[in-house]
Amino acid sequence: MSEYVSKVYDHVVAKNPGQKEFHQAVKEVIDSLVPILDKHPIYQKNKILERITEPERQVIFRVPWMDDSGEIQVNRGMRIQFNSAIGPYKGGLRFHPTVYIGIIKFLGFEQVFKNSLTGLPMGGGKGGADFDPKGKSDNEVMRFCNSFMLELYRHIGPYVDVPAGDINVGGREIGYMYGIYKKIINSPDNVLTGKGLEYGGSLIRPEATGYGSTYFAAEMLKVKGEEIKGKTCAVSGSGNVAQYTVEKVNQLGGKVVTLSDSNGSIYDPEGITPGKKYDFFLDLKQVRRGRIKEYAEEFNVEYRSNKRPWDIKCDIAFPSATQNEIDATDAQNLVDNGVIAVSEGANMPTTLEGTKIFLDAGVSFGPGKAANAGGVATSGLEMSQNSMRLSWTREKVDEELHKIMINIHKAAYAASKEYGKPGNYVMGANIAGFKKVADAMIAQGIW
Ligand code: NAP
Repeated sequence: MSEYVSKVYDHVVAKNPGQKEFHQAVKEVIDSLVPILDKHPIYQKNKILERITEPERQVIFRVPWMDDSGEIQVNRGMRIQFNSAIGPYKGGLRFHPTVYIGIIKFLGFEQVFKNSLTGLPMGGGKGGADFDPKGKSDNEVMRFCNSFMLELYRHIGPYVDVPAGDINVGGREIGYMYGIYKKIINSPDNVLTGKGLEYGGSLIRPEATGYGSTYFAAEMLKVKGEEIKGKTCAVSGSGNVAQYTVEKVNQLGGKVVTLSDSNGSIYDPEGITPGKKYDFFLDLKQVRRGRIKEYAEEFNVEYRSNKRPWDIKCDIAFPSATQNEIDATDAQNLVDNGVIAVSEGANMPTTLEGTKIFLDAGVSFGPGKAANAGGVATSGLEMSQNSMRLSWTREKVDEELHKIMINIHKAAYAASKEYGKPGNYVMGANIAGFKKVADAMIAQGIW
């Protein structure tokens, strides 16, 4: 069977030249599916791997807008509608200068399995643009979002495709996009998630990915007879996922000693504790849109220019910035320093080599498609509340999120056990996510 899987992989690489992140995501998933493909020849007979690695639809479009000096700028927007076998396409929008089709495709592919794991009826998709909101005025961001949505609106809808946020797409950007969408189609049909609370958003959606990744880590630790209380944690990034990972780790009695951005990292051995330090951090990032270096200056702790946090000693690592931010050297450093669990808040933050090092060392390793699924799961809960025309309390949404994360852990662990590698959550999450989508595809015939 592994020969068949290699053939499919070679075909994907040949058909999608230069898209290295997409190749990496496909390799990670299909290699770990060998045991289920061996056990159920029906998947190969129905060419599920060949079909599941080919997006259902890809849209690429021009996004022209005018900057504050009156100059016209042109960006490239895209939406990949990867798989709708179990529900409408669902997945975030990323605005970042590194965005190109290979990144959006890897994210869309991951999203298919992640959404399946949540247990909610959501297919997978992803989109974005090579636009960098950093240093842009609110008006520039709004003009960009308006232009982006002027094309995207044709391809989405509450029963077709429901985008959300991702890197550099937070409450501000979702608000601008939702406003123009509503104006174009003349109906407030709740097509985006991550909306503001005043206009259909859900409590806990901003917190959901960080909270969820922490809940997932807690579940992995439970299997080892451990808990977050008393543990030292390294978090990377300082955006949405990092912010609420820190909050939840603090609530559960752990200590977060690192944060980062694309310029460097901070090391605070006393921890980013609740109160003055955490409030400063949130205000710095959410209100002033500042750099993490300012945290080091404010609290007189170490700033490590152009360095990631992974050489700092910790018990649990929460990579929460971007793809491939833990390479083999970083993984080895973490293992040598005694890390016992890694919970991926970001999407594919660990390289294939890094993942192997963690698995070989017996580290509990929660891959992004399981560990960070709390965000999209809570987007699913936002869709449910919108459909029912009501708003749940904070406690109710958090309780649902927690239950979903426990269930994802259970499903991934059960699959890892059934296929002979108990505790290998990479294999478990891929198999559990794959099975539901593959069975739905077979049930629906060839399309
Ligand atoms: P965000 O709020 O925009 O924050 C991103 C953070 O990562 C920032 O601190 C950013 O630093 C840093 N970063 C981005 N690109 C980087 C790079 N190339 N090198 C180093 N640092 C980099 O985004 P987010 O929503 O927290 O997303 C973070 C990760 O979580 C992404 O992988 C995303 O796909 C994943 N994720 C997010 C959600 C969600 O609900 N938001 C759900 C599931 C998964 P700078 O400010 O310097 O760019």
